[in-house]
Amino acid sequence: MNVNRRLFGILSSLTSVAVAQSARGAMPIEGTAGPLFIATWPFGLPACKQSLVSLKAGGSVLDAVEQGIRVAEADTEVDSVGVGGIPNANGVVQLDACIMDGTNQKAGAVAALEDYPHPISVARKVMERTKHVFVVGQGAKDFAAQQGFEKQDLLTPQQREKWKQWLKENGKEVPKGSHDTISLLGIDAERRIAGGCSTSGLAYKLHGRVGDSPLIGGGLYVDGEVGAAGATGIGENILRYCGTFLICELMRQGKTPTEACIGAIERIARGDRKKPADLSVNFVALDKQGRWGAAGTDESFVAAVVTNQEAKIIKPEIVR
Ligand code: ASP
Repeated sequence: MNVNRRLFGILSSLTSVAVAQSARGAMPIEGTAGPLFIATWPFGLPACKQSLVSLKAGGSVLDAVEQGIRVAEADTEVDSVGVGGIPNANGVVQLDACIMDGTNQKAGAVAALEDYPHPISVARKVMERTKHVFVVGQGAKDFAAQQGFEKQDLLTPQQREKWKQWLKENGKEVPKGSHDTISLLGIDAERRIAGGCSTSGLAYKLHGRVGDSPLIGGGLYVDGEVGAAGATGIGENILRYCGTFLICELMRQGKTPTEACIGAIERIARGDRKKPADLSVNFVALDKQGRWGAAGTDESFVAAVVTNQEAKIIKPEIVR
């Protein structure tokens, strides 16, 4: 082949890679990596805003993540996280959460926690005050009590009514979209990374069922060298593929955050031999360079991004 034509071919393929990459991942914020917070769903926006406030007040990025998630947990209008969360099939609200610190790769998690509205903070205490990572059920409840957390009735009258209605209808059809987790990731100006994840899980789930959200590498993974990823969707489809761990590994291999999220979706679809549209798996991610990204299979999936310059809801790449 003519040398010039070959050179032209190489150059144009390089250009198209560059274009594809810039379309699939936000550019780094000038100078420093952060602060940058990204979270799942519209209720991620007030949460991320709180994270930035917490960071600016002198908190660590880990504090910021915890404080942001507590906003969603305390809001009874957010019916899939914390107080006001959707109960399980027995009419009991069981909460799942985990938190991870990229500065030391430490993590804490709780699952099927009853009566305590802030599982993210209980998870943090597991990380900081025990030599364990994961505490569940009655053990998590006992631990929360022992740590002095305040109890609260998590089932609101509205959720009780909806659950009763569901029972009346023989508990068959779980309302579509009756679940949504907050996964919130942050990076500060010194490129320290942390993340957290909190949910009441799938609506009317089997008593004791735990999804991806409190699982390290399932609903959340933070790799201090590379970046972080968080998930929302049908936990059973995410946890079988260690979805967020996979995204961090794809970023380690050079993918942008959005490309890595898409890569995980494609991997799950291939493994399950299903169309992405039938999976309900959605991800947010950020990398050590301060680039954020997101992709999902639910048309309704959105994410919130907050930096010093802006606070906005973004429409991620939807893979069907
Ligand atoms: N991933 C959560 C779970 O399976 C639910 C959700 O994010 O919508 O428990």
